[in-house]
Amino acid sequence: MKSKRQSNTRFRLVLTLGLAVVLPALTLIFVNFQHVKSIQRDKKVEALIHRDFQYVLSISAKKIAGKAFAMTEKAREGFPSENDSENERRRKLDQIVSSNPAFTHVFLFDAKKGTVVQPQRASMSEKEAGDMGKMYSGWFGLEGQYLCEQLRKKPKPIMWMAGESDRPTAPGYMTTAIFSFPDLYRDRTVLGGVSFDPNYLKKEFFPELLEEVTSQNFAGGEEQLSAQGDQRLAMIVYPADALKAELDRPLAMSAGWGGGKPEVSYKLDDPFRGLALGIKFQGTTAEAISRRWVWQSFMILGVLSVLMIGGLVLTYRSVNKQVALARLKSDFVSNVSHELRTPLALIRLYAETLELGRITTQDKKNEYYSIIRKESERLSALINNILDFSRIEAGAKEYDFRETDIAELVRNTLDSYRYQIEQQGFALEEHIDPGIPAVKVDREAIARALVNLVNNALKYSANEKFLGVRLYREQSVLKLEVSDRGIGIERHEQSRIFEKFYRTCDPLVHNTKGSGLGLSLVRHITRAHGGDVEVESTPGRGSKFTLLLPLTQQPGSTV
Ligand code: ADP
Repeated sequence: MKSKRQSNTRFRLVLTLGLAVVLPALTLIFVNFQHVKSIQRDKKVEALIHRDFQYVLSISAKKIAGKAFAMTEKAREGFPSENDSENERRRKLDQIVSSNPAFTHVFLFDAKKGTVVQPQRASMSEKEAGDMGKMYSGWFGLEGQYLCEQLRKKPKPIMWMAGESDRPTAPGYMTTAIFSFPDLYRDRTVLGGVSFDPNYLKKEFFPELLEEVTSQNFAGGEEQLSAQGDQRLAMIVYPADALKAELDRPLAMSAGWGGGKPEVSYKLDDPFRGLALGIKFQGTTAEAISRRWVWQSFMILGVLSVLMIGGLVLTYRSVNKQVALARLKSDFVSNVSHELRTPLALIRLYAETLELGRITTQDKKNEYYSIIRKESERLSALINNILDFSRIEAGAKEYDFRETDIAELVRNTLDSYRYQIEQQGFALEEHIDPGIPAVKVDREAIARALVNLVNNALKYSANEKFLGVRLYREQSVLKLEVSDRGIGIERHEQSRIFEKFYRTCDPLVHNTKGSGLGLSLVRHITRAHGGDVEVESTPGRGSKFTLLLPLTQQPGSTV
């Protein structure tokens, strides 16, 4: 009935634990696990990084285009106006070219006045400029008016011509801006232009811009990239239709590019049509970062699961311990009340019988007196144990250490039990080494420890009734041994018998009265003396308890 109630309590506790803690925690871990797996499967981290790359590229493209437009617009402001003389026209164009080494040449086409091409003298000859002039005159002579009309419709009256330069003196990618002057030359067909030097683009313009954009920290608005904030970016500019092998020789690259393919590319529009921007991380890839993220997430989930399982095991064990302790306590109460009742009933019975005067022989009377004395001794031993135990539990147990002849103490204690021992049919073998030095102990406590051990030997012996007590010195330790040839103790229970309320499962123990406090007191007493208690036991063969008391260490007075 009792054990059914206990298993019910345990079941309820385990159920509560399961429903309130395990189920939600497991569900959380499982859902997170699935979530990380889906991120891994759908390559979501890579997709996020690539989205951020796209964002960085579009901003960079705007910046690159913006700079080319700004340079062009600035040059356009310096172009000659309608009323300028021929000389003035040349001077102004020359001024633009000489103050701007980024241009190979500038030109001005006027349907009325003809074409002027002003070359950058360092990189273009007069002859080449003359050829260019002819080319512009021919082209704009035919299409100039149409181009002017088209340009007027644009918000910025600039158009671009980009591609590989066919000049043998300056090969490479070049772009030329062609613009009209809606404010200066209202209804006339006048076009101007500046041509960017391929060398300047390759060596200065793109490298500088790439360096600028990659050194900036693009938060990109996405957590994923900012989480990778310490990852530096690397970018290249390359011909949009470049073959894979040609990517190793891009037009320009930022520091830390290190070769290979870009992770994400972006085709540039005017003014750099035909080129593309490429981006990747320095020294790593989005895939590697994603793999690391997934691995870290799984690791965290794994550690969490292990912690949770560990916590559960600990909680389960502590619940079990509490349930067992509750059981031990209830056993203790019933054992103690039983132990109190029996000697009291005997004392009353024998005292009443004596009182009635029915006992006539002195021998019988003596026997009754001795029973009353023995039972009252048992009562005080039990009450002393309980009082000591409650003082220990309250942390208020005090020991009175005094220089003591311990051999005499053991002898005296055994003397007062000798009669009882012999009456119960026990053979007592007492061996006290001579020359045991005096030690500082609490007399009463050591005597109580010995009495508890002797009582146990008497209680837990069935067939062979033997009690051995030895006191001897081994180096700096004093040993007090109490041995019996009784029922013995199973190995797995030997460490537990010193716990409070613990009693073994042996049927004889169950039929014997006891509180389960004796050995826990013995251990407390010896430890307070700086020593310990040991047990050696074989089931069915007997047990030996040894109190170890150090001779050197001076114990404290309060425990
Ligand atoms: P109690 O004797 O009141 O039950 P103790 O703390 O003195 O409590 O002992 C705890 C348990 O250890 C006992 O219930 C018994 O099972 C076991 N035990 C103690 N001494 C012996 C012994 N000499 N032989 C066999 N078992 C013993």
